[in-house]
Amino acid sequence: MSYDLYHIIPYAIVVRHRFIYKPDNLYHDKKMRRQLKSAIILRTRKPFAVKILEPVVHMEKLYDVIIIGGGPAGLSAAQYASRAGLKTVILDKSPTAGALAYSSKIENYPGLVEPLSGSKLLSIFRNQAIKFGAEYIEAQVVGVRVASDIKEVDVMDNTYRGKTLIIATGSMGRNPSIPGEEKFLGRGVSYCAICDAAFFKNQTVCVIGNSEEAVKEAELLAGFAKTVYIMSPTGSINVPADHPVRSSDKITVLTGHRVTSIEGDDIVTRIKVKNTGTDGEQVLQMDGVFVYLQGSQPIVDFLDSTLPLSDKSCIITHRTMETSAPGVFAAGDVTCAEARQVVTAAAYGCLAALSAEKYIHNKKRMRFDWGES
Ligand SMILES: Cc1cc2nc3c(=O)[nH]c(=O)nc-3n(C[C@H](O)[C@H](O)[C@H](O)COP(=O)(O)OP(=O)(O)OC[C@H]3O[C@@H](n4cnc5c(N)ncnc54)[C@H](O)[C@@H]3O)c2cc1C
Repeated sequence: MSYDLYHIIPYAIVVRHRFIYKPDNLYHDKKMRRQLKSAIILRTRKPFAVKILEPVVHMEKLYDVIIIGGGPAGLSAAQYASRAGLKTVILDKSPTAGALAYSSKIENYPGLVEPLSGSKLLSIFRNQAIKFGAEYIEAQVVGVRVASDIKEVDVMDNTYRGKTLIIATGSMGRNPSIPGEEKFLGRGVSYCAICDAAFFKNQTVCVIGNSEEAVKEAELLAGFAKTVYIMSPTGSINVPADHPVRSSDKITVLTGHRVTSIEGDDIVTRIKVKNTGTDGEQVLQMDGVFVYLQGSQPIVDFLDSTLPLSDKSCIITHRTMETSAPGVFAAGDVTCAEARQVVTAAAYGCLAALSAEKYIHNKKRMRFDWGES
């Protein structure tokens, strides 16, 4: 099926309810026009109703193992898979976004003589996996297709193809809890600045949160929006005192401010904010609200019901970490694991990689890797 894009005037292009390109960038981007030849684009005045039914797929590379998530589970899986000679890629939303990245001090991981910050331990894991040959790509996964032998994983501007898939996205997801957050999700409320920033060109947006990730996303938004507020519910933001965000003329940091509601008609137009110091409330005109408050829900939104989940929304696995879809494995906090610790996440990641290797080579028994020395 092929469509001449010059004759189509899409309002927007959306993959799995996420904006990708608006007409302005589409028509000026030759490469994008070529890539979209096989896509079905619908025209609509309600942008979130449109979908690409045949997504753009880059066919060049076929990986043995695609790993979603760069925490201890994903990185241990990557280490074992790449050390076993499997062509492995890790797709990670951000090295600062997972549970381990949030932990200021770890002292119960075996081998640590002195306590270490979570982000330092994470970078050791990451470098080790890369050293063994795994590719690390910072990209947020927005969709997967797992029914056929070749698994497909969508990020914003690419689709990765693999013989096996390991899901290790952790459990830092959130249930919408701010009044209006759920109602306006996809209509001004977003959890993904890299996905949606371009749609707020010259507008006013806010980021709710105080983490390093929230600050990074605010900086990304400042490349598009006219004004960006960072609403930190606590008295600070988690970046050094000399961080450039504090002197940016586009970004206003409001510490000790809690967003109490997100309001509008069809789309977001304003928010209500409470100053936790004075208890005073104010209304701010707002076009977009990016929520970066962490929760404790397994991150499975991108699965779009492709895998069965438990009633607690965790991925159900066999003891070899395989899910109900052949060739698809899960590891770490995203599974229904009894313990949520770095050491268990790493162990589950190892097991998932060994199972993926077994699946690829159609082995009857698991290969135990005792090293080669
Ligand atoms: C504050 C805190 C303190 C803790 N202290 C300890 C401790 O002292 N000792 C201990 O053993 N454990 C501790 N834990 C628990 C431990 O950190 C977790 O059990 C462990 O990190 C889980 O590993 P994981 O790889 O499953 O998930 P995570 O570490 O959460 O990593 C998940 C990864 O997935 C990525 N991701 C998420 N969504 C997507 C997406 N859509 N696309 C691409 N990538 C995505 C994230 O960027 C992240 O890199 C603590 C946790 C917290 C929150």
